[in-house]
Amino acid sequence: MPAIIAVKVDARGEVVDGRKHVAAATVAKCNLCEQVVDAVASIGVASIGPETYACKTCLRLRLEAITVALYELREPGASGLPWGKVSG
Ligand SMILES: [Zn+2]
Repeated sequence: MPAIIAVKVDARGEVVDGRKHVAAATVAKCNLCEQVVDAVASIGVASIGPETYACKTCLRLRLEAITVALYELREPGASGLPWGKVSG
């Protein structure tokens, strides 16, 4: 079962599992880069701490790292970039 996603929007509130909670005192702080940003998404699960949030920049860097790692460790003989070929 996937973890519930909570998004904090700084000074506006929170959307938890699709439900909106308005709260002007909300602080959108990323636990990875320690910055207060416009919005952060939860990355925590109960076993490692539910109150862990990441910003768009940190999440994007991790997605890029996954893409690079999949390319670097691709199956022998496989060629091409992992994000597919440009057509046209
Ligand atoms: Zn961050």
